[in-house]
Amino acid sequence: MRRFSALDRIYARIENSQQDFKQASSQAENSIACPPRCGTCCTHFTPDVTPLEAERLAYYLLVERKDLIERFFSQIESLAKAGESWAVDKACPFWNPDRPGENCMVYPARALICRLFGYCAVLDKQERPSFALCDKMPSLAGRSERIFTGEDTLQRLFGRRPPLMDEFSREVLALDPSGAGERRSVIEALPVALGKISLLLRLAETDEDSRSTAPVAAPASMPAAQRSFGLSAGLYSSDADSDPDDFPIAS
Ligand code: SF4
Ligand code: SF4
Repeated sequence: MRRFSALDRIYARIENSQQDFKQASSQAENSIACPPRCGTCCTHFTPDVTPLEAERLAYYLLVERKDLIERFFSQIESLAKAGESWAVDKACPFWNPDRPGENCMVYPARALICRLFGYCAVLDKQERPSFALCDKMPSLAGRSERIFTGEDTLQRLFGRRPPLMDEFSREVLALDPSGAGERRSVIEALPVALGKISLLLRLAETDEDSRSTAPVAAPASMPAAQRSFGLSAGLYSSDADSDPDDFPIAS
């Protein structure tokens, strides 16, 4: 759980950095924003994830959105029955076409690449930060170019450099060096992660039971998914401020 907590802190810093970038770009009168209710980036895209990111997503699904696990596997099974496999450019399995503007069904646990898309710079061959406007974003007023390169250019046009993809990617990989080379499609990585995290949650429950002298009824506030996996109340808190390090899963 300590690694989940560290991953969440990186995700939070990405969000803060993007907010700062959006605010600075607005003040510089070159505001960067997605068109309302767009979400097009998820319609022909299936994200790659590290093993740790897959496990973080698996934990979210097991504890909060068990319904999506069944949905995920039924989508894959339907394709298998039709003799097809998942294409990289197919819509993400967690994209909800019925909620324009709020399409991501796993938003709190989405991966690094999903968080950075549209609002990050990458290093070019000369190690210069380069920022490209997403195809769906309008051009800057009075400018035809859509790629902006160099620290000075980014500072001048947007007031600051966007978050750097390379920097945050390195930080995520550093949390799990053994899995550094294993970035895979969420379609392949998630089933493995679900098996691992489900087992850890069951072991945690067994440990909890063995220390308990009397059975404790699950509180009504406990999510249905967690109750149905037979997990104890101590494994989950709906309090966003609670410390994930308190969860009894080994890191
Ligand atoms: S990043 Fe691009 S495709 Fe995605 S929501 Fe924003 S404008 Fe649309
Ligand atoms: S996980 Fe969410 S944000 Fe990422 S591609 Fe899928 S629907 Fe989009």
